[in-house]
Amino acid sequence: MPAPNLIIRIQNYNRVSLGAILGAAPKNLLQKFNLITWVSTDEEPIELGHERTLLVYSFMLPHTTEVANELKSIKHRYPFCETVCGGAQPTSAPKVTLELGFDYVLAGEGEVFFSEFLEKWLENAFEKGIHHAPKAKVNLDLFPGFSTITEYLPPIEISRGCRCGCMFCGVPRLNAATVRHRSLDAITSIVKEYFKLKPGRKRIKFLAPNAFAYGSFSGKPDLNALYDLLETLKRAGVPEINLGSFPSEVRPDYVTREVMELVTPYLSNKTIVMGVQSGSNKMLAKMNRGHTVAQAINAISLVREFGFLPHIDFIVGNPDETQEEQIELVDFMEQMINEFDIKVHMHTFTPLPSTPWENKLQSPIDESVKKRIRTLQAAGKLDGWWENHIGYFRTNQETK
Ligand code: SF4
Repeated sequence: MPAPNLIIRIQNYNRVSLGAILGAAPKNLLQKFNLITWVSTDEEPIELGHERTLLVYSFMLPHTTEVANELKSIKHRYPFCETVCGGAQPTSAPKVTLELGFDYVLAGEGEVFFSEFLEKWLENAFEKGIHHAPKAKVNLDLFPGFSTITEYLPPIEISRGCRCGCMFCGVPRLNAATVRHRSLDAITSIVKEYFKLKPGRKRIKFLAPNAFAYGSFSGKPDLNALYDLLETLKRAGVPEINLGSFPSEVRPDYVTREVMELVTPYLSNKTIVMGVQSGSNKMLAKMNRGHTVAQAINAISLVREFGFLPHIDFIVGNPDETQEEQIELVDFMEQMINEFDIKVHMHTFTPLPSTPWENKLQSPIDESVKKRIRTLQAAGKLDGWWENHIGYFRTNQETK
């Protein structure tokens, strides 16, 4: 009997998540399949015959419509083909995802769960429908976080989860309000593997919800852990360490003078990306950010003092946001631009599934506020897709 087809639907946006689950899958398990990659805009694989076939998707909210359309077409042309999906959107909104027509929806961390699913699928022992992985159980040290199948060496995930409780963010709920850090040994072995696969590689980036919280479980920076991380990377011969910049941003309350003195000599990135989100203490409290405007100003000033460009995230259109609060936000952004020459990364509030504010509505953005934001954008002081996301929640509701 021929081996069943396992088709991996690869897009640029899912190389990280697919790399994580495929890298974690035992080789002898994958060898039981005829493994096929279907990349980007390529035609669907010609090997798609009438053998038993499983097509694997991983996606986020913005890709839902595109995936739904493709799935419909696949199901129409190849009704025998079974489909499974995981990733951020299926995890956050599994019911909505199942309604798109997937046979199996795997919600949660996939490193262990996906392999268990494949084993059972081979034996026809996995029921169709939604299945939830146990929350926050994956030991990052046991898995490499990448796979050569996806042909991408992603930023190395040094921490997963967050104990803060920002109302707009899904990270705490998805990780049961826990935080895990990858050990130095595990990080070192991934770095070595990267250099083996790409000997000329210079820059290594990292993935973390709060980069300067590496090694910390206490709610404040662990200077020893940060030092050990950076020294380890230096000793491993990483020519360019990119930490504190996308996709390993930082929180203002973790940017202290001690932290900046420690990290600056090691970093090659010229920008520090930091979530500040609002210039109003009242709004920061509503968002449950856990820091104040004064802490944000102190952090921005330190980032500038140590020679980095502060690239600062802000959100407008938050639930129940008043006109005064929006004006306060733009006043604050302009003040920070004038005093510290920051660059603003502007967002419009989007009610994401699995967040405390998932059922809240975006507040209308005052026209005078929009105008001032556009002026900053035209002056090159502000970037982001904020304007595309105005009214975005309506599209989301329609998808539901
Ligand atoms: S926005 Fe950042 S700090 Fe807040 S809960 Fe999410 S990951 Fe944690």
